[in-house]
Amino acid sequence: MALHTMDVDRGFRRETIVTCLVDISSGVAGEITCIECGGDGDWTKFHPEPETLTAPMRCIECKGTGRIYVSI
Ligand SMILES: [Zn+2]
Repeated sequence: MALHTMDVDRGFRRETIVTCLVDISSGVAGEITCIECGGDGDWTKFHPEPETLTAPMRCIECKGTGRIYVSI
């Protein structure tokens, strides 16, 4: 794993900058811990009434994997 601290531009207009540890091992894309869920792939913690859920809410951004790709 080749981790580098980089700024990732987020949002529709790319105006939100988040500093992340980016794994550039693949050479073609960077891989980071999912920004939306924090890496556990679960959105249940953000639901206003999690006790009403019959199954965990999978993170939309990372599809529940906890990792996303960013361009480098
Ligand atoms: Zn996620």
